[in-house]
Amino acid sequence: MNQSASLVLVIDDDPATRLLAHEAVAEAGCAVVEASDGETALDRFAEQAADLVLLDVEMPGMDGFEVCRRLRLLPGGAHVPILMVTGLDDVASIQNAYEAGATDFVTKPIHWLILGHRVRYMLRAGRSEARLRQSEQRHRALLDAIPDMMFRVDRTGRCIDFTGPLEITPLASADEIRGKPLAAFLPRRVVEPAMERITEVLTTGRPASFECRLPLKHQRRAFEARLAVSGPDEILTIVRDVTERNEAEEKIRRLAYYDELTGLPNRQYLRETLQQAVRATERSGGRLALLCVGLDRFQRINDTLGHAAGDFLLATVGDCIRTSLRAGDTVALEHHDAAAETHVSRVAGDEFTVLITDLKRDEDAALVARRIQEAVSRPILLNNNEIVVTCSTGIALYPHDGTAVDSLLKNADTAMHHAKEEGRGGYRYYSQSMNASALERLRLEEQLRKAVERDELFLHYQPQVEIATGRVVGVEALIRWSHPERGLVSPTEFIPVAEESGLISPIGEWVLRTACRQNRAWQEAGLPPIHMSVNLSVRQFRDERLVDTVASAIEEAGLAAARLQLEITESLLMEDVEQVIAKLHALKAMGLALEVDDFGTGYSSLSYLKRFPLDTLKIDRSFVRELPGDTDDAAVCRAIIALAHSLRLRVVAEGVETVEQLDFLRAEGCDLIQGYLFSRPVPADEIPALLAAPLMPGAVEGAAATPTA
Ligand code: C2E
Ligand code: MG
Ligand code: MG
Repeated sequence: MNQSASLVLVIDDDPATRLLAHEAVAEAGCAVVEASDGETALDRFAEQAADLVLLDVEMPGMDGFEVCRRLRLLPGGAHVPILMVTGLDDVASIQNAYEAGATDFVTKPIHWLILGHRVRYMLRAGRSEARLRQSEQRHRALLDAIPDMMFRVDRTGRCIDFTGPLEITPLASADEIRGKPLAAFLPRRVVEPAMERITEVLTTGRPASFECRLPLKHQRRAFEARLAVSGPDEILTIVRDVTERNEAEEKIRRLAYYDELTGLPNRQYLRETLQQAVRATERSGGRLALLCVGLDRFQRINDTLGHAAGDFLLATVGDCIRTSLRAGDTVALEHHDAAAETHVSRVAGDEFTVLITDLKRDEDAALVARRIQEAVSRPILLNNNEIVVTCSTGIALYPHDGTAVDSLLKNADTAMHHAKEEGRGGYRYYSQSMNASALERLRLEEQLRKAVERDELFLHYQPQVEIATGRVVGVEALIRWSHPERGLVSPTEFIPVAEESGLISPIGEWVLRTACRQNRAWQEAGLPPIHMSVNLSVRQFRDERLVDTVASAIEEAGLAAARLQLEITESLLMEDVEQVIAKLHALKAMGLALEVDDFGTGYSSLSYLKRFPLDTLKIDRSFVRELPGDTDDAAVCRAIIALAHSLRLRVVAEGVETVEQLDFLRAEGCDLIQGYLFSRPVPADEIPALLAAPLMPGAVEGAAATPTA
């Protein structure tokens, strides 16, 4: 301890006392300045502030109390320890001494040996106090200098102290806030995490933080609260407005993850997204496709028209790709991949990538590639010139062509370069086998397009028989394609292709018109009136012109509307219910009948079912197949029949092949059957014979031998 630096001012009018005091204090290792009266003492102190003052009370002239009071006012005097020397038992003086600002007192006669220790102790205490004062001052300064809000709260969340802007609370002043629980002036969504952190910080002793949003100056702003233990059972919370910081971070993120020219995610972002997608796909066991789309001969455009034009072109192409993939606009995604998601990025000057997650079939990636090509190759106005650019696309599939991000990126790129080599405007899968099956699908689509022109499509008709009477009351029109090389192609194979390519519109319209004309022709030939069932695909149903098309088909054929029945699938009833109901009513208003095909395979809600204006439910073939042996299927059929009847609908069972099935259905009260038992779908000219056929059940035995298509 460096006490030699401590200076003690000894003030006493008695020279002997001064001498003894001087010695005792010097003994304690301090330097001493003496004064024999108050005036001198004040002068001395003003010259050099002492670290401790020993002051006699009784002095001629200015007494000790007055000296003490004045000392306190001098620079450095406010906190200096002052030890007053009073008379023994002089309680009044002791009282006066404290009131005048003395730190402590000693009584006369002075015990000189003890005085040294006393001085040492007071000096030490004085120094500690000075340090404390300084540190408190620093803390105050620190808190004043921080623009943040500050709360001190106890374990229960009661606010001990608060500084900061009051706008964050409905309370008017900091005083009002003090003593209140946080919940009294902060919203619950802030109080809850705050209380969690308070408990956490008190338990672990480690600081913690959380972010929250609060309104400030009519604006919602982001705040970061940092909590630390500030005493036993006490937490100091500094709450900082981090709105700008967050915005800056977001900006940096945009700069790091987005391409400025097109606004699309960049390669880095793609890598991270792809990484996540690969992981998710690995877990789900699904598949994904990575398309690498390169503009053909972009360099030439850039060189001839200049960089500004090149940039404009890239931005436009980026837009084209993005909009071409918007959900609902994407043919490939509309039918099969309601859940599929696409993610477009720009990875190099003239290269874009498209990530397709939740891919249902590998072939669908080719449909997306074609969609992109179509969009990109629309003319773009550039410097008053219309120019057409094409792109080449490479496709890599997960898991087929790679399971790691790098290999997928590399393989998509390789495939893109192959596509470029093969000529512009094409696409290629990385794997050969995929190229083959995508090509096959494409071929089928092209051939189907031609099939319409070349009259390769025709209809067969399958009778629907009323169980009670055994009479044919209607037929279902079923499309057939006689393929020049492959022979008869099943509608289950080409109807989905027709749906995806949009060909279903002309094909569906053709079926409708042909079927209506056929029914009219039978009637004109004098056959008993029957209804004609025509299948509608989902896409046809959604077509805005459907109602007009149907109306014109009936009118053109001169058919009574009641003789036409439209078959819609159950899945349709689950989409956009209100819109479907409106459309069904519009159709119904024309006077035609409505039937739900493949009933039981979807999950239509029974409460909705009664809101649809329906006439017939058709039990799906899959429930009929195992009848009557399979008890589950039997129960389903029984339930559907009961349900239909309770809604006053008729029931037809499709795919009825055996007498046992018929017997079961008859016993359960099913109204109609359709199936090989009575007849396969047959050409139009075989229908008259079937209409004239003997009534069931007598006809049943012979039915199996009925000529087939
Ligand atoms: P769908 O509407 O459920 O037609 C019933 C299917 O069951 C027909 O198959 C029919 O030939 C077959 N079938 C009838 N009785 C029996 C039987 O006793 N046993 C067995 N195993 N099968 C039987 P098809 O003609 O191959 O048609 C398949 C699907 O293609 C149809 O199912 C329908 O969804 C669709 N389709 C057919 N023609 C058209 C059309 O003109 N337009 C639209 N949009 N779809 C059509
Ligand atoms: Mg059908
Ligand atoms: Mg069916």
